[in-house]
Amino acid sequence: MRAWVVDRPAPIDDGPLRLVQRDDPMPGPGQVRVRVRTCGVCRTDLHLAEGDLAPRRPQVTPGHEVVGEVDALGAGADRFRVGDRIGIAWLRHTCGTCRFCRSGRENLCVGPLFTGWDEDGGYAEYAVVDERYAYSLPDDFSDVEAAPLLCSGIIGYRALRRSNLPRFGRLGIYGFGASAHLAAQIAIREGATVHVLTRSDEARKLALDLGVASARDAADRPPEPLDAAILFAPVGTLVPTALEALDRGGTLAIAGIHLTDIPTLSYEKHLFEERALTSVTANTRADGEELLLAATRLRLEVRATPYPMEHADRALSDVAHDRLTGAAVISMT
Ligand SMILES: [Zn+2]
Ligand SMILES: [Zn+2]
Repeated sequence: MRAWVVDRPAPIDDGPLRLVQRDDPMPGPGQVRVRVRTCGVCRTDLHLAEGDLAPRRPQVTPGHEVVGEVDALGAGADRFRVGDRIGIAWLRHTCGTCRFCRSGRENLCVGPLFTGWDEDGGYAEYAVVDERYAYSLPDDFSDVEAAPLLCSGIIGYRALRRSNLPRFGRLGIYGFGASAHLAAQIAIREGATVHVLTRSDEARKLALDLGVASARDAADRPPEPLDAAILFAPVGTLVPTALEALDRGGTLAIAGIHLTDIPTLSYEKHLFEERALTSVTANTRADGEELLLAATRLRLEVRATPYPMEHADRALSDVAHDRLTGAAVISMT
């Protein structure tokens, strides 16, 4: 099969990815193999290609928003049938025995494995997954639309919950890419007032189109104090900016897996009056199931730009340079 691999981490425009020929993967016990139809492009793939995330395996195939059709079952696999459309996401294994797994917090597992980092992901014609970590996908979304739900959607959903946004509260969203455009819609449909702060003109237009109350530059103040904020941009200097925009008792949740350094914070200015700062680390499978249900119930509109498989590197470059709004999705057909 054809598969993209991270050859040597480097700035995306120096070509860290390479398209190679590989043996088709075989499903092990309890695993299923999918023929990949689409794979979403996540900013984490970019961090991996550029070396912000240390590689865990040489020549790994990135991609953890995989939509595919089951085409082979490993020994004992019986959750899905050949032909079913399923999704493969970031979290692909947890130990099941650590204190976090045992307390419903498998996203904090001390021995997890991740798709497209520890094991090969979906920038390829075939991929395998432990069936217990795969998702059935709602019919309401096409292959291109379903892919971004699998990480952008799930992480945006978890970030929203981590931000402790009160009912009918005021939410600030810093950075407006694939994840933010889905989280914003969930918040709005649940009654929140959403203010978007991003440097990209096009992203501000999309945000307003999707119904946010205001859209300004990332360095600007929102028009009113915020009960909660989510930082999607991987930019540490925005942490004090976002904290200053919070009302008393507000929470800032940082959604990304990687962030540039945070400048020195002032206790009085940034944290006193019970402002809280937290992060988001992966997700539980329950988060994933909840997001997929919410996506259907709230009729989320997925803005996605498809790229042919041969142009996965260009898709990543476009994400890096804010050349598209919404999500980039690699399509195999
Ligand atoms: Zn564990
Ligand atoms: Zn991701």
